[in-house]
Amino acid sequence: MTAWLPVIEESELADGAVERFRTAFGDEPDGVWIAPGRVNLIGEHVDYAGGLVLPFALPYVTAVAARRRDGAVLRAASTGSDEHWGIALSAIAPGSPDGWGAYVAGVAWALGLTEGADIAVHSSVPVGSGLSSSAALECAVAVALRDLFDLDADRRTLIDACIRAENEIAGASTGGMDQSIAMLAEPGHALLLDCLDFSSRQIPLGLPDAEILVIDTNAPHRLVDGQYGQRRASVEKACADLGVRTLRGLDPEAAASAMTDPVSAARVRHVTSEIVRVEQAAELLHSTPDLTALGTLLTASHRSLRDDYEVSSPELDSAVRASLDAGAFGARMTGGGFGGSAIALVDRTRTEAVADAVTEAASAAGLPTPTFLTATPSGAAHRQR
Ligand code: ADP
Ligand code: MG
Repeated sequence: MTAWLPVIEESELADGAVERFRTAFGDEPDGVWIAPGRVNLIGEHVDYAGGLVLPFALPYVTAVAARRRDGAVLRAASTGSDEHWGIALSAIAPGSPDGWGAYVAGVAWALGLTEGADIAVHSSVPVGSGLSSSAALECAVAVALRDLFDLDADRRTLIDACIRAENEIAGASTGGMDQSIAMLAEPGHALLLDCLDFSSRQIPLGLPDAEILVIDTNAPHRLVDGQYGQRRASVEKACADLGVRTLRGLDPEAAASAMTDPVSAARVRHVTSEIVRVEQAAELLHSTPDLTALGTLLTASHRSLRDDYEVSSPELDSAVRASLDAGAFGARMTGGGFGGSAIALVDRTRTEAVADAVTEAASAAGLPTPTFLTATPSGAAHRQR
């Protein structure tokens, strides 16, 4: 009864993108490029606060079939959408095009593209589940355009272009974690990303006896409704009040008690304590990790996000509670919150039992039926063919 989302082979996904390309544009693409979705192990709502995050790439990816075309026009189609669209490169601007086109056109805009291209998209990353289908799309497009037009752009430049595409053209506030992991991921590793200067370190994610269960609650996350912006604003205000450039390195209790109102204190406590938890998690992963200790950090992260940062949801809380009750070492919401996905650190022999318990809890509470994903730490954006 538990629903698992199958991992589709990259070559099969690429075939799907090529097929969509043929139907939309009646021709063959020049190549196919792939970029992964991601899950964040720990470090939530701290990327825009100059914190540390620890995401890894998922084996669920977005494939982009693309070809250069004459004329300064960009056209795109997706298997996730019936319509395909075209826009003059000079017409790309904030809100133009709108909808999913903004994520594609925004990258062309941010890279300063002057020649046209046709693009077809096919993805196995759940859309709007907090697993970063948006960055997977942007990053697949970015590596495609780099190769098609022989752009002199390193990964850092491509990451920045994708961030600008999402912030400025799609108008969806993003802190940069998603684009960084999609561009820098290495198989078998999580990425310890320092959001102060975007330096990063690969952290081996070897969990011999355990695995990370990804739970898509199927309650769509809604970050664009203002909550994300409000949290970002609360962090900026706290920095101004405390007279600091970032909340990085502050003692959680001291920083919280320096705030004058309880809500600001709680927000600051989340950000500062979450950064400490990421440092502790990265430290634990240096050697064969103490799973109980790692799990405790995950669960503490969830409580902090739920109680202090107030970005959880009934679906996420249910998934976390049921995972813990069924014996998970720890569990937390992951991604922006307000729906989306959760993760649980589970003994390999307990994976099915935990998944069943999460499904039953959702059903008993009248919540959407969750879907479970395989979380093999995977690689970064690349050319597939
Ligand atoms: P998440 O990144 O967590 O999946 P977002 O709200 O940030 O959620 O991004 C989802 C949006 O990205 C979709 O609404 C759509 O506009 C765009 N998108 C992602 N993947 C695809 C795809 N395969 N085809 C078309 N649009 C996509
Ligand atoms: Mg996103």
